[in-house]
Amino acid sequence: MAKLVSCGCLPQINTGVSFAMAERLSKNFLAHEFECSCGCGQGQMDPIHIALLQKLRNAAGPLRVTSGIRCKEHNKLIGGASRSQHIPNSQGMVVACDITFAKGSKSNRNILRLYTLADQLHFKGIGLYKGRIHVDSRPGRRARWIDHFWSWKDT
Ligand SMILES: [Zn+2]
Ligand SMILES: [Zn+2]
Repeated sequence: MAKLVSCGCLPQINTGVSFAMAERLSKNFLAHEFECSCGCGQGQMDPIHIALLQKLRNAAGPLRVTSGIRCKEHNKLIGGASRSQHIPNSQGMVVACDITFAKGSKSNRNILRLYTLADQLHFKGIGLYKGRIHVDSRPGRRARWIDHFWSWKDT
């Protein structure tokens, strides 16, 4: 139930609560878009990562967050990497999210375009997946990878 209230998508229930909870992180991103989908409410998105994500949104058009914060338990449940950048760090900050286009084609060719835009903005980590990309602002060296489900075939 707490998850429904915190989503902030119900302006017709004008209690003021939903608006207060719909914290805006940048021009086009709200905090609830990045919440751990298990409903635990853990972690916060790193503001530097969000600022870069907003630049990507400005270049690419409307984006949808497919995965943001993942608590350790939820990350394990969905088979994420054990040291995933989606897990809150020691400061409780998360420097990663998976995104796709909010509308239009999510073909391999289009997702590659999103990957290229992210690369031009110098995200530290970028992964190319079928139907989405992963972007992160990890400390240390840059990383680039292609998931084996992505292919040059334009499906
Ligand atoms: Zn969780
Ligand atoms: Zn990811």
